Amino acid sequence: MTADFDATRAMFDLPEGVIYLDGNSLGPLPRGAAEKLRACAEDEWGKMLITAWNRAGWMDKPRALGDRIGRLIGAEPGTVVLGDTLSIKVYQALASAAELRPGRKVILSDTGNFPSDLYMADGLVRTLGAGYELRTVAPEAVEDAITPDLAVLMLTEVDYRTGRKHDMRRLIAKAHAAGALVVWDLAHSAGAIEVDLAGSDADFAVGCTYKYLNSGPGGPAFIYVAPRLAAQVRPALSGWLGHEAPFAFDLDYRPGAGIERMRVGTPPILQMAALEASMDIWDRVDMADVRARSVALCEAFLTAVEAACPALALASPRDPESRGSQVSFRHPEGYAIMQALIAQGVIGDFRAPDILRFGFTPLYTSMEDVTGAVAILKRIMDDALWDRPEFKTRAKVT
Ligand SMILES: *Cc1c(COP(=O)(O)O)cnc(C)c1O
Repeated sequence: MTADFDATRAMFDLPEGVIYLDGNSLGPLPRGAAEKLRACAEDEWGKMLITAWNRAGWMDKPRALGDRIGRLIGAEPGTVVLGDTLSIKVYQALASAAELRPGRKVILSDTGNFPSDLYMADGLVRTLGAGYELRTVAPEAVEDAITPDLAVLMLTEVDYRTGRKHDMRRLIAKAHAAGALVVWDLAHSAGAIEVDLAGSDADFAVGCTYKYLNSGPGGPAFIYVAPRLAAQVRPALSGWLGHEAPFAFDLDYRPGAGIERMRVGTPPILQMAALEASMDIWDRVDMADVRARSVALCEAFLTAVEAACPALALASPRDPESRGSQVSFRHPEGYAIMQALIAQGVIGDFRAPDILRFGFTPLYTSMEDVTGAVAILKRIMDDALWDRPEFKTRAKVT
C-alpha cells in the first residue's frame, strides 16, 4: 500500500495559518470526529439511553479499537484493549509483570523515562513493600544493568524529550535471557514508528491515543499483553469490567478471558467515538509508509535548522534509526523561543530545562510545513524576536 498523504491531510481540521508540529503531544481534530461525537451523543446516548451499551455496541468498542491500534504496533488480534489513562495502564502492566516474577524484587528503568511512569513504579514499589526496589540508570546503561535479580524492565521506547529510541528487540532478548519480563511504554511509538510487538517477543506494552493517534484530550490509553502471558495475569487493578462475568455481580473476582481482564471500569464512549474518526484515517495507511515519510520530514527539518540556526544545539540522535518521529534542540532560552514561534503560528512545545520539541506526523505534516517552520525559526533567532517579556512568563502547560 502506498499512502496518499495529501488525502490524509485533507481529513484533518487544521486551523488556517498554523504549522502544527506538536501532534506528538496532542493530535489534531480529525474532520470526521465532530460528526462521530454528535452521532454518539445524539443518536446513541440521546435516543438509546442505557440500551446503547448493547444496541450501539458500546461494550465491545475497547476491544474493537484495540485491534485497529494493534495493527499499527504489530500486535496479534485480540491482544490490545482500551481504557483508563496511560499512567494507570503503566501501573497495571507493571504490577501484573512483577507478580509473574515472584522472588525477584527489582524493577529497572531509565532516567530518561517520563516522570509519570517512574512515579507510578515508585508508588507500586511502596505498596508492595518488602524489599521491592525501583532502580534507574542512564538510558545508555540499561543493557548492562540487566542482571539476574530483575523482575521487570520498564522502558519508554522513544524518549519524550530527545526522541532517542531504545532497541526493543535486543533489550527484550537480553531481559528474557536474564529471566525478567519487559513493559514497554509506546506513548511516542504508536503511530510514530514501526513497532513489532509479536515479532519482538514483547510481554506487556501500553500507550496513549491522544498523541499520534488523535483521540483528543483525555482519550483512553491502550494495553497489550502477549497471548502466552494473558491467561496467567492476575490484574492488580481488578475492576468489574475485567471480570469473567461482570453482570453476574459475583462478590469474588475471577479474571476475564485473555486481554479482557485488563479492563477496569466503564470505558469513555464519547472519547472512543473521536478515536474511531482518527482510526478511519489510520486504517488507510501502513506504518512502513508513515515511517519512511516521517524520517524524510525529520531529516529535512534537522538539516535545515542546523544550517539556519547555529545557536540551537541538536538534542536528538542524528541517526534516524535511533530516533522516533520528533526532533529536539536545546537552547538556554528555549521556552521564550517556543513562545515566539507559537505567536507566529508554528506550534511545537518546550520541555524543561531547555528543550524545544518538534513532532512530525506524516498524516498531516507536509514538506512545506517543514520549510515554513524553519524560515520562521530562522527569523526569530536572527532578530532575537524571542527576547521579550511576554515570551518569558511560564504558563501552566508548556
Ligand atoms: C504522555 C505520556 C504519559 C502521560 O500519561 P497520562 O496518564 O495519559 O497523562 C505517560 N508516559 C509517557 C511516556 C508519556 O509520553
